[in-house]
Amino acid sequence: MTGSGSPRVIAIDGPAGSGKSTVARAVADRLGLQYLDTGAMYRGVAHAVLREGIDPTDAVMVSEVARNVTLDVTRSHCMVDGEDASAAIRGPEVTGAVSAVAANPEVRGEMVARQRAWVVERGGGVMEGRDIGSVVFPDAELKVYLTASPEVRARRRAAEAPGVDVDSVAADIRRRDEADSSRAASPLVTADGARVLDTSDLTVDGVVDAIVGMLR
Ligand code: C5P
Repeated sequence: MTGSGSPRVIAIDGPAGSGKSTVARAVADRLGLQYLDTGAMYRGVAHAVLREGIDPTDAVMVSEVARNVTLDVTRSHCMVDGEDASAAIRGPEVTGAVSAVAANPEVRGEMVARQRAWVVERGGGVMEGRDIGSVVFPDAELKVYLTASPEVRARRRAAEAPGVDVDSVAADIRRRDEADSSRAASPLVTADGARVLDTSDLTVDGVVDAIVGMLR
């Protein structure tokens, strides 16, 4: 909650292609808050792991990378140890490895600590991910869980990646949904108290209006 000086946090969670990034950015703009894409942080760790030739399922080595990597995630960029990895983190190699990296409890502990510090430094923000309302900020002022039909989600992701066909995007989304929902550490769930919003038939403005309306 706001008041008493605590940071204002809006948590937006949901599966791939549910519209989180576009919506979270727009909500941040409307409210004059900063925005953090926590998925880009897990992707940044996966990028560092692959760059060092480490097996993404090697828990010990991957945790060490997560503890030591310098990540600077801004609205438009993801810097990994000073290297601009903004394009690489969206590529097929990182997308294929990120769920295994994100299933590592020590990686999650490290990222959650950095995410909480980010909010403290900025006095609040709009944060999107998979576990923001359930784990990172369970007391957020507003928790939203975005969904959309599998077909709509695959179409949205395919539109962002020209040359990639919808069927392979749909298969990738199914694989990540399954991995993210079934992992032991902070699985993708609808957080207690989260407002569920199906974005399948809504425009971006419609979703943003609905979320801002929930704050009133
Ligand atoms: O949001 P995005 O699809 O870029 O996230 C990439 C991956 O990072 C997800 O599939 C998930 O495995 C992981 N992730 C997570 N927790 C978050 C954000 C992302 O486990 N808060």
